[in-house]
Amino acid sequence: MPFALLRYGLASKHRPFRDLPPTPDLKRSYDVVIIGGGGHGLAAAYYLSNHHGIRSIAVLEKGYLAGGNTARNTTTIRSNYLTQPSIRFYKEAVSLYETMSSDLGFNVMFSQRGQLTLAHSEATMRSFHLRAAMGKHLGTRIEVVDPQTVRELCPHLNMDIGGQHEVLGGLWHADGGTARHDAVAWGYAKRAAEKGVEIHQRTTVTAIRTAGDKVTEVVTDRGTIRAGQVMQAAGGLNGQMAELAGFPLPIRCMTLQAMVSQPLKPFLDTLVSSANLHTYLVQSSRGEIVIGGASDPYQLASTRSTFDQKEHLAEGALHLFPFLHNVRLLRQWAGIVDTTPDYSPIMGASPLQNYWLDAGWGTYGFKATPVSGKYMAQTIATGRVPDMIAPFALDRFDRFALLNEMGATAASH
Ligand SMILES: Cc1cc2nc3c(=O)[nH]c(=O)nc-3n(C[C@H](O)[C@H](O)[C@H](O)COP(=O)(O)OP(=O)(O)OC[C@H]3O[C@@H](n4cnc5c(N)ncnc54)[C@H](O)[C@@H]3O)c2cc1C
Repeated sequence: MPFALLRYGLASKHRPFRDLPPTPDLKRSYDVVIIGGGGHGLAAAYYLSNHHGIRSIAVLEKGYLAGGNTARNTTTIRSNYLTQPSIRFYKEAVSLYETMSSDLGFNVMFSQRGQLTLAHSEATMRSFHLRAAMGKHLGTRIEVVDPQTVRELCPHLNMDIGGQHEVLGGLWHADGGTARHDAVAWGYAKRAAEKGVEIHQRTTVTAIRTAGDKVTEVVTDRGTIRAGQVMQAAGGLNGQMAELAGFPLPIRCMTLQAMVSQPLKPFLDTLVSSANLHTYLVQSSRGEIVIGGASDPYQLASTRSTFDQKEHLAEGALHLFPFLHNVRLLRQWAGIVDTTPDYSPIMGASPLQNYWLDAGWGTYGFKATPVSGKYMAQTIATGRVPDMIAPFALDRFDRFALLNEMGATAASH
């Protein structure tokens, strides 16, 4: 048997299967250069190459593929936002996730198990009624539910009747779900690479050269390249990247942490979130309980995790599911998130003519990966910003046309 295995392993007809070709040398120029090989950069590269026929594309990633926030997020996918532009945008995101595995021929393990957000106060219940009305009006599956329905949806939940955090009701969003984050990134990368997109890992952009209001060259630690169009999708470093291009973005860097328990038998069907406790939980396909909450309450560009936040998240999780008290934590981690004043992203034009922004994804950008990729690619290919993403333009901060999603984003991402 060992010899048969060795023969099989060494036989040239059984070549190792590679999802991606090795990083090639940088060419002197590309039609499109994408800064950041996270989900957003890769999705845009996929749509540009597969839907718009643009093949001369380089994705530049300073670390490893999707090793930024795409690798660190807790994979909540939902469209239960508050403002019309956001609901429309994230509704399309959910529908793209529904067909993503078959569209890419790559299993992204999308699991549409619904999201339950808990209300522990009358004020929260009132805000749920508003979000449910907006969501229903725009065709999402969302409704306010009473404590009995909460119990049926999540039988193991501590309802805390008569206590400080009694569950008064919930916002049930049947469209909500999760997907495997690295599979999403690798699916886009693989299909883009098949169309000739070059993915350059360990390639850091160190400067952006401009002439007038146009970008001429992108300088990297592996060489300088000319670019027809440039898209910035640098995750937590979006603020710094824009400064390299010569303009500021209204972005604050914050640290967002999460942690995961040892695997348990399945008991939690839905995603559960409590804005009052600043905690949310989801059981992964491996049985681990993924626990997250709000970002750290001060600006910091760091991926260190803290004991404070571990204690805070454990407290919230144990309040909702007290029987978890003996469960061990396996890992805790953090990402740097690029947060805007209105908790909405910045997509589209920048002060430079051929430099496009895909930034400000803060704590909520994983779910947007397919839809931002689709519309950013359309923007770059046509030079026109589609209606779907026009409300997220950078100049909304000058026009006082903010899209306040803080309440709908705070603790469930
Ligand atoms: C703990 C945590 C939990 C989260 N939970 C959720 C959630 O449940 N649902 C949700 O929707 N969102 C969530 N998010 C947010 C989500 O992860 C991000 O918004 C999303 O991943 C952003 O994707 P991206 O491709 O824009 O950025 P990233 O994945 O961060 O990719 C940007 C890439 O740019 C690269 N880069 C930066 N600077 C340079 C440079 N100079 N040169 C070359 N490359 C560069 C980085 O190395 C990085 O790989 C969470 C985030 C964290 C940290």
